[in-house]
Amino acid sequence: MTLVRCTDAARTFGHGDQAVVAVHGCTCTVEPGARIAITGSSGSGKSTLLHLMAGLEVPTDGAVEWPEFGDSAVERSRDIAVVFQGPSLLPALTVAENVALAAVLTGTDEAAADERAAAAMETVGVAALADQLADTLSGGQAQRVAIARAIALRPQLVLADEPTGQLDAATGTHVLDVLLAAAAETGAALVVTTHDPTVIGRFGEHWQMNDGRLVVPAEEGVLR
Ligand code: ADP
Ligand code: MG
Repeated sequence: MTLVRCTDAARTFGHGDQAVVAVHGCTCTVEPGARIAITGSSGSGKSTLLHLMAGLEVPTDGAVEWPEFGDSAVERSRDIAVVFQGPSLLPALTVAENVALAAVLTGTDEAAADERAAAAMETVGVAALADQLADTLSGGQAQRVAIARAIALRPQLVLADEPTGQLDAATGTHVLDVLLAAAAETGAALVVTTHDPTVIGRFGEHWQMNDGRLVVPAEEGVLR
């Protein structure tokens, strides 16, 4: 069973002289239960690869497939949750509304979405913030709420883009604990990009992006 399969997947932005190859042909798979950390310097293509895996970017060459999830973006949006690199909450909505919204937008009825949101906020430890407006949160709180929103979807795959990037070391460690515990509780596979080498040891697989090229240890990322 494979959740995501990238086959020589590439993404170029712009054309002609202006073209930037963000990701050269990447070949890799994500299996259920995976715990993958992708490292690489700034501009090495981590976010672009994650967006390709999420289906948010379309490859300009090669292919990205989701054998378990059906072909349409709507179907995939129920199974794949993304935690974005920067602020991503809607500031004028409460924490509870932010967490429930993605589930509602992907077709969960409102009562069920509220229940899932409550459970996700409990898991992530932000239940006490439920009625606060999102723009009153600290960076660490906002990142935990974004994680709650992701797991409220009950996804099979969570893709988190530098989830600890904006946080101090202690808060970052806590947010990572929360993310790993939430993935364990919901059974989701987890892929994170990170600058932080201390994060790597907590993940079973370590992939590296180097100038748009993915270096996956041979025994891990090759097509099986
Ligand atoms: P990372 O997440 O590792 O910092 P990115 O995937 O964000 O790397 O970017 C890889 C390269 O692609 C960079 O050179 C970046 O400037 C470029 N890039 C990323 N997104 C876009 C875009 N939407 N338009 C043009 N260039 C982009
Ligand atoms: Mg990035």
